[in-house]
Amino acid sequence: MTVQPIRLFGDPVLRTPCEPVKDFDKELRKLVKDLTETLLDAGGAGLAAPQIGVGLRVFAFDVDDVVGHLINPVLEFPDEEEQDGPEGCLSIPGVYIDTKRRQNVVAKGFNEHGEPVQIVGTGLMARCCQHETDHLDGVLFLDRLSAARRKEAMKEIRQAPWYDAANPPTIKISPHAGGAGR
Ligand SMILES: [Zn+2]
Repeated sequence: MTVQPIRLFGDPVLRTPCEPVKDFDKELRKLVKDLTETLLDAGGAGLAAPQIGVGLRVFAFDVDDVVGHLINPVLEFPDEEEQDGPEGCLSIPGVYIDTKRRQNVVAKGFNEHGEPVQIVGTGLMARCCQHETDHLDGVLFLDRLSAARRKEAMKEIRQAPWYDAANPPTIKISPHAGGAGR
């Protein structure tokens, strides 16, 4: 059993940028296995290493029955098209807020054997690649929301059964928010 506990919003590990993977060794393959099994157990679209407490640039995905992983991802956007729809996070359970993302993405990186791979993603797969790569930079989907939507998200989070009012998490305020919502 390699299912790991998932870190929740408020845990500083979720706000810490991850290090690139340098050694494609047995330990890395164990991490990929843990991430994949934890994701399949939890039933989300993606799971990034910091969500199980590991500060390396690795994520696993399960989108439209395609299960895989990507290491040291770099995203490219082939066009300007956007999508807007509900997004959630296994570290912020039960909270789903409409989030704008790019519609199409080319995610380049490596597999667990150190071989170069690329994912050409659209829709949910593109959303997943953006969400998970954000995790590796210490960014949460809440940071991508407008001030109004973030307020809505925080209201839901404060009502969530897992929310710890004694240890409230920080949200990065987007430069576009204009200080509103204080
Ligand atoms: Zn997430």
